[in-house]
Amino acid sequence: MNQRQLFLQHVGQTSQQPLCLNIVKAQGNRLFDADGKSYLDLIAGISVCNLGHGHPRIIKAIQEQSERFLHVMVYGEFIEQPQVQYAKRLVDHLPDSLNAVFFTASGSEATEGAMKLAKRYTGRTGMISFKNSYHGSTQGALSVMGSEYWQQAFRPLLPGIRQADYNDFSVLDWIGPETACVIAESIQAEAGVNSPSIEWMQALRSRCTETGTLLILDEIQCGFGRNGTLFAFEQLGVVPDILLLGKALGGGMPLGAFIADKKIMDALTHNPVLGHINTFGGHPVSCAAGLAALEVLIEEKWIYTVAEKSKRFVTQLVHPKIERVSHRGLMIAVHFSSFEFNKKLIDRLLEKGIFTDWFLFASNALRIAPPLTITQAEIDEACHLILQTLDES
Ligand code: PMP
Repeated sequence: MNQRQLFLQHVGQTSQQPLCLNIVKAQGNRLFDADGKSYLDLIAGISVCNLGHGHPRIIKAIQEQSERFLHVMVYGEFIEQPQVQYAKRLVDHLPDSLNAVFFTASGSEATEGAMKLAKRYTGRTGMISFKNSYHGSTQGALSVMGSEYWQQAFRPLLPGIRQADYNDFSVLDWIGPETACVIAESIQAEAGVNSPSIEWMQALRSRCTETGTLLILDEIQCGFGRNGTLFAFEQLGVVPDILLLGKALGGGMPLGAFIADKKIMDALTHNPVLGHINTFGGHPVSCAAGLAALEVLIEEKWIYTVAEKSKRFVTQLVHPKIERVSHRGLMIAVHFSSFEFNKKLIDRLLEKGIFTDWFLFASNALRIAPPLTITQAEIDEACHLILQTLDES
């Protein structure tokens, strides 16, 4: 059997049409397959590889930490330097109230941990999430996902969860003394880049404060500079009670986190003790890689290039077949008439060496979320090929 057949036969599948690209190397903003063909990466592993592929400082940090030690003990018992240093560096960049970092191994687990923390801290069970939101695929995270299509086959899910319309003020009336938390993405990614209004987000924050409800903001996909500031909430004039991070947090290694005030976080230490535990959360190699990635992101000033690059994409992406473009920084959704049209475009672009994708809740939209390190010439190359392919479609 060849590699493709072995993959389809022996690796658990999530779709009947996986992309099946056989990537053997990734460097800078390009992926290379087994036939030596290169692809300009406009997806960055779904917002993971914000600094492109193979950044020497990240590789060095991984090598050095792996020579010191790999796994030594389950999360939360030993003082592991990479965790401590990374937590400190993260909180240095966050408002004072976000000062305790609970490391997990994935974004979904950060959501799970935050949901448990909200229940435990408030002593309440009600939760509110939003239509077309994605917070992960595990059962708790699935319970707050804003899509009946992906939820229905797995019911019963968690009780007491209501889903409101994002950006709609009527949710304010739903939040009351029984609500443990409201969970929202700072920018809805899988909805096809749906941004909240500042007024709505601030009203949500005020209502949560009034009722003693915790506001959880999910920046697993939109955080880490993708929107032109380190965290997207900085542009919304609010501070969440719990912040969810993942994806780019690990610099290409698996890592997630939920971050809160120590006064809130400490609720997981008693009644019961070990209120949330895991084996691999904050893996030392992931933390070393993530810390190096954060340092590079800041020192090399990539965040400051985001607005200009975003503009370079959207000013070029004008075509009669494009219905609209929604965007926030380097999260761009190009909307077409149907999924079928979009999928054909994605496939044609792949043939031409451009890797794009669609969105879970906006399958008619082309996803463009490249590494922040993408160059102006690469943006022009991508836009030229997209427009050329649209002309041919
Ligand atoms: N929240 C958001 C906004 C996400 O985009 C994702 C992943 N796509 C998750 C949570 C879940 O993260 P993970 O896949 O690492 O579990």
